[in-house]
Parts: sequence; C-alpha cells; structure tokens
Amino acid sequence: MIPAQFDYVAPTTVEEALAALRQYGDDAKLLAGGQSLLPVLRMRLNAPEWIIDLGRIDSLRGVREDGDAIVIGAMTPHSVVGSDPLVAQHAALVTKAVAELADAQIRHRGTFGGALAHADPAGDLGGPVRALDAEFVIAGANGTRTVSADDFFVDLFETAISEDEILTEVRIPKHTGWGAHHEKMVRVAHQWPICAVAATARVEGGTIADIGIGLANMGNTPLRAGGVEEALRGQPATEDSVRAACARAAEGTSPPSDLNGSADYRNHVVQVMCRRAVMGALEGAGA
Ligand SMILES: Cc1cc2nc3c(=O)[nH]c(=O)nc-3n(C[C@H](O)[C@H](O)[C@H](O)COP(=O)(O)OP(=O)(O)OC[C@H]3O[C@@H](n4cnc5c(N)ncnc54)[C@H](O)[C@@H]3O)c2cc1C
Repeated sequence: MIPAQFDYVAPTTVEEALAALRQYGDDAKLLAGGQSLLPVLRMRLNAPEWIIDLGRIDSLRGVREDGDAIVIGAMTPHSVVGSDPLVAQHAALVTKAVAELADAQIRHRGTFGGALAHADPAGDLGGPVRALDAEFVIAGANGTRTVSADDFFVDLFETAISEDEILTEVRIPKHTGWGAHHEKMVRVAHQWPICAVAATARVEGGTIADIGIGLANMGNTPLRAGGVEEALRGQPATEDSVRAACARAAEGTSPPSDLNGSADYRNHVVQVMCRRAVMGALEGAGA
C-alpha cells in the first residue's frame, strides 16, 4: 500500500521544527530515519496530514564528549553510532547492541533517537540505555528538559516526549573500562529480539563493584533487572554468584506471549541469557 496523502516540511533548525509542530499540532508527525514510521504510514495505521522531516537539522546529528558523559544526537544513524570510537570506549554496551540491530540498510537509515522515541519494547537500544543510566534531552516551547532513562519509557510505544516536543540528544555517563555484553535471542537473523539482555559491569580486585542490566521484550517497556543487580553488587565475580543472582532475572517482568514464545518460556530463557550476558560483561571487565 502507499501512504495516504500528506504535506511535507523539512526545517533546518530545532526551533523551526518546534514551530511546525505547534502550527500543525495533532495533524503532524516527525520523521527521522523512517524505518518504523514509513511502514506504519504504508499500512495506513496512521495518516498524518503533515510530515516534519528532521533530516536537515545538522545540530541533531553526531557524537561528542561532554565532561563525564558522551552525547549522541537524536538523528545520528545507527551505523555511525555503532562505529564511533567514543561510544566504543565509554559506552561499549551501545556498540555491541547496535551491531546486532536489524541489518546494514536499516542501520544506515534508522536513527538512535528515532528508535528510542518509537519505544518498541523489543527494540535493541532500550535495555542498554537503561543499564547505562542514560538521560534524554527533550526540546519544547519552553526550552529543554532532561528525563532519566527510568522515566523516559512510559508504556507500550509511549515515552515522556509530548506531542509538541522533540528528542534532541541522549547523554550517557561514561562507563570507561566497564565490560559489556549484549545477549539477543532471535529466530531469524537481523530481526527484533524474542528477548534480549544487555549487561555492563565494573570489576575491582575480583569483586563486582557495579553493574547495570537492561531487558528487552520482557514487558511493555524496556526494563532493568534491579534484583539481579542488587544481588551481584559487592559479590565475587564468579559463575556461581552470577548463576544464583540471575535466577531473579524475571522478577517484576510481564513478558508477552506470542508466536515466538510464551511468557513462561521468556521467564525461563531470560535467566539463562542473563547469566551469559553478565558473564560476558565480567570477562570484558577483566574478571
Ligand atoms: C525490517 C526491520 C527490522 C528491524 N529490526 C530491528 C531490531 O532488530 N532491533 C531494533 O532495535 N530495531 C529494529 N528495527 C527498527 C529500527 O531500529 C528503526 O530505526 C527504529 O525503530 C526507528 O528509527 P527511525 O530513525 O527510522 O525513526 P522513524 O521511523 O522515522 O520514527 C519512529 C517514531 O519516532 C518518532 N520520532 C523520531 N525521531 C524523533 C525525535 N527526535 N523526537 C521525537 N519523536 C521522534 C517519529 O515521529 C515516529 O513516531 C527494524 C526495522 C525494520 C523496518
């Protein structure tokens, strides 16, 4: 199917884009890489009268260092994020997750901010940004505000971004020297995960000094495996302690049942994947 007819604007600044959002209100939709929006338009699940293309706003693109954080512009394509040396050095978990996200064509067009704004609970980036305590910078009529990753994901395909706001960048505290591992289960290569676990850890003298673990497709939003993190902080970086802690991986989750697996199956498999992800992160941290 082809999309319903729409008008198109391509502003060159965030201010112009915000003005267009104010002007067209409910009739408008923001376009980033189009990898999720265009299928929705083609299936006519949504028929906005105006498309506001963010693709010509240069300030929304790129990766930079800002003190103890790295900052990823919302319109930075997955392929650029995945090969960026700053991201690899300070947020290795993102590099690993992006490497497994969809295929090369989608990574070339799709954007870091577009994927997070889309907020598919099966997306590969939600778990890592939660595990890394990222912050989301959102621009609106009254300036910008910053939202923590814990508060950003509100519900299924719903975030803290209001209709008249734009996600401009994602700030990730530097996790330099932390090990990282992304464990993703798919039936078909390059597809959305049935379930995924993103783990990053810091080890000091054989002890797990700190750890972050995010889960994909285990509920309506990307989740954090807080029980496992709590059980592992201060514990020896050994397979026995990891195995015991990861028995808590499904705590507080409410996974879907679908053709790829039942909720019970996901509740079981997430424990196994959690162990693999944490062991991989510990190994990367020198344990
Ligand atoms: C076949 C296929 C397989 C895929 N597999 C995976 C996978 O394995 N893992 C995975 O994580 N993803 C996967 N994706 C999705 C991919 O990551 C997309 O890039 C992503 O979901 C949307 O990013 P986009 O830049 O294309 O955004 P768009 O499709 O342009 O926009 C998505 C939504 O976000 C809104 N939006 C975009 N940017 C902003 C902004 N700056 N501020 C506010 N709102 C905004 C748009 O209005 C729209 O509602 C797949 C996609 C396809 C088509």
